[in-house]
Amino acid sequence: MKQFLFILSTLIVFNLSAQTVNTKNIQPNKPKLVVGIVVDQMRWDYLYRFNDLYKPNGGFKRLLGEGFSCDNTFVPYLPTVTACGHTCVYTGTVPAIHGITGNNWWDNNLNKAVYCVEDKTVTAVGANAGEAGQMSPKNVWATTITDELRLATNFKSKVIGLSMKDRGSIIPAGHSANAAYWYDGKSGNFITSTYYMKELPEWMQQFNNKKLADSLYDKDWNLLFNKDVYLQYCDTNYEAYTSKPFGNNAAFPYNLKQFKDKDFSKILTTPYGNTLLAEAAKTAIAKEALGKHTVTDFLAVSFSSTDYVGHSFGPNSWELLETYVRLDETIGNLLDYLDKTVGKNQYTVFLTADHAGAHVPEFLNKHGIEGGRWDDGDIKKDLSDFTKAQYGTSVINAVNEHDIYLNHKVIDSLKLNLQTVKQTITEYLLKNNKVLQVVDKPNASQAAIPQKIKDMVVNGYSPTRSGDLQIIVKTGIMDAGKTGMSHGVWNAYDSHIPLLWYGADIKHGNTHRETFMTDITPTLAALLNIQMPSGSIGKVINEIVQ
Ligand SMILES: [Zn+2]
Repeated sequence: MKQFLFILSTLIVFNLSAQTVNTKNIQPNKPKLVVGIVVDQMRWDYLYRFNDLYKPNGGFKRLLGEGFSCDNTFVPYLPTVTACGHTCVYTGTVPAIHGITGNNWWDNNLNKAVYCVEDKTVTAVGANAGEAGQMSPKNVWATTITDELRLATNFKSKVIGLSMKDRGSIIPAGHSANAAYWYDGKSGNFITSTYYMKELPEWMQQFNNKKLADSLYDKDWNLLFNKDVYLQYCDTNYEAYTSKPFGNNAAFPYNLKQFKDKDFSKILTTPYGNTLLAEAAKTAIAKEALGKHTVTDFLAVSFSSTDYVGHSFGPNSWELLETYVRLDETIGNLLDYLDKTVGKNQYTVFLTADHAGAHVPEFLNKHGIEGGRWDDGDIKKDLSDFTKAQYGTSVINAVNEHDIYLNHKVIDSLKLNLQTVKQTITEYLLKNNKVLQVVDKPNASQAAIPQKIKDMVVNGYSPTRSGDLQIIVKTGIMDAGKTGMSHGVWNAYDSHIPLLWYGADIKHGNTHRETFMTDITPTLAALLNIQMPSGSIGKVINEIVQ
């Protein structure tokens, strides 16, 4: 009996201690705040190309030196543009499921062009901004990680989105956000819409009243380093092929004072757009007490000026180098601020990009590398003329991101065979020496192209919001107007993005294992112990966790 009691009591003690251990492990220490940083158009190689110029206490060196870098992260769909990128990062899924098939698309059911975050049922808040304020996330068909955080905490977590671009703020903040703010270039204010609130909070009104854009214009844009530094990293005479966003003042030093109180949109194409956004982010952290609640809060920040500068000047310009070196400092300041207010290792940061970007074709040509320009508008006109000559009337609804939307109504009324029309257009396009392949989108899985491109076409295809034929252009060909550069295609220069993790529970290190943009959200869900978003198809990146 004694022996039996001994065994019983041992079992009970063992059981109790096992229980204590289990209970301890059920809830990991969750970060008080997650800060999601998207750098619009950031190529992965900028982390390393300019590394010597980044400061030890700046953003990139700290994230790389203390955090975890997924060095082979790719965008897994077409087209590689801003709206699709932000949606994929935050939903963990692809356009075929979340429905954001471009910044704009032709809606085959509504029979009209649609902007990704347009919503005519709401109005601007914070300025007399007209259409710039008629925005909401209603076109996104999936939940975001920010929605899931709100759901998991019975909507106690605070979620705020901030960006210079509407889509860079609205989509990450999700459907159930407390707020999303974006910059209105006409008023110089951060605005929102009645989807979120009737009136800007007091703190944002005060922030807008400071007219920080004007004080930043006061600094002008002068070079940070002496010219030798730029010559070491950049092209010498790139001015011939770049856009001129500041008019006649087409090279350094840029006089920005001339735009004071006149044109608040010019700040977008300077590093100061990033400075302004970071100031708004810090104010939001302070005034909304982010990271001070019993549950995890989420701040989604998207830096857009990198994209404006990239488009105008390209990856080998002095302006681009300036923008990244200054952004490094801006992100470093933001981390300092988070250390001070939320506490070191009390918050988690991830940094990625919505897409990368190509070299300017003329720059490539100068060095014997293939590259050229393309205009979807010209192709639309050309195809309209061609099909009109063939069938008596045009069968083209739209051409957007190399995606051809056919007018099925007209094709039906003419009693034409859809497959024959597609074949005729394909054969015609293949005579264009910039075209590599034309893929029949609904039948993309049958196409004789490498699996990677096939997957990207399938992942980007929605029957109601995509076209019928996807043009795959040759390497280096871009739809970028007559100057500057662009992005949108499958190639690594547009699809290879940085992915850095930093802060609470994040290990130091890196991996070259291939990971995808779709993996970000499942990894966040795992870190936060919450459900992954409704359309999520990615995998958890296990390596980052301590
Ligand atoms: Zn862009």
